[in-house]
Amino acid sequence: MFTTRFAPSPTGRLHKGHAFSALTAWTAARAAGGRFVLRIEDIDPTRCRPEYEAAIIADLAWLGLDWDGAVRRQSDHLGDYAAVIESLRRRGLLYRCFRTRKDILNAIGDAPHGAMEAVRPGPHAANEEARLLDDGAPFAWRLSLDRAREVLGEAVWNGLTFVEEGHGPDGLTGVVAVDPTAAGDVVLARKDTGVAYHLAVTHDDALQGVTHVIRGQDLFAATHVQRLVQTLMGWPTPTYRHHGLLAGPDGRRYAKRDKSVTLAELRAEGLSPQALHAELGFSRAG
Ligand code: GLU
Repeated sequence: MFTTRFAPSPTGRLHKGHAFSALTAWTAARAAGGRFVLRIEDIDPTRCRPEYEAAIIADLAWLGLDWDGAVRRQSDHLGDYAAVIESLRRRGLLYRCFRTRKDILNAIGDAPHGAMEAVRPGPHAANEEARLLDDGAPFAWRLSLDRAREVLGEAVWNGLTFVEEGHGPDGLTGVVAVDPTAAGDVVLARKDTGVAYHLAVTHDDALQGVTHVIRGQDLFAATHVQRLVQTLMGWPTPTYRHHGLLAGPDGRRYAKRDKSVTLAELRAEGLSPQALHAELGFSRAG
């Protein structure tokens, strides 16, 4: 059954961009006679707060949206993610990384910020790793692209694709060739929480039977690595519909820092959900 989701992180109040995204996914689900699930992506304890989760739920209800089944809160399921990490680890697909963000930055020197996401530091030397483990130093688990390529074989590695029914930032649509190296040896388990975004999101999309991932173009690049994780885990590949990001009056895209456009503010100013639907291009009366 057509199943899509809205998966906000409770790191702040929802803004108009979130409302557009949630309405896009909800409308698609209802039009298809399918399911719309709500997932709270709160695995980062340094940025997420329970009061924002409550606010998200209140804002979505105000918008007139309803969702199917229980809300899945990722922080309640850390054991599920740990089990996936363990299975990838047993297959030799992960290596420990004790490096700090600063170590990595120093190693890549003057490379642009984006390179941070595509680093491939490789495993530590065995004796160094043993010493760090002995010291009780915290470590992350990184995906080994070398091992992933070996496990999948050249044909699969070179032939990964996903279907984009929306469009990427450069207008890319249709069958998209995946660059499995796009995110480098990505961290799948953080030092502090034992899980990271790409792992939790692909696990949950599979678990919740998500057939259509509908989200903003800012996450288009993430699809490459997520497709790789799905393949390694034997999880189904959803169809993707990335949508354009809403721009504010100044032409910049809405972000959580723009406090003035939170739904809470708009509501306090007396905006009705119906008016917001109309402004965002959705005709249904809330
Ligand atoms: N939790 C992510 C965010 O708030 C969205 C994840 C996704 O849609 O894949 O940006």
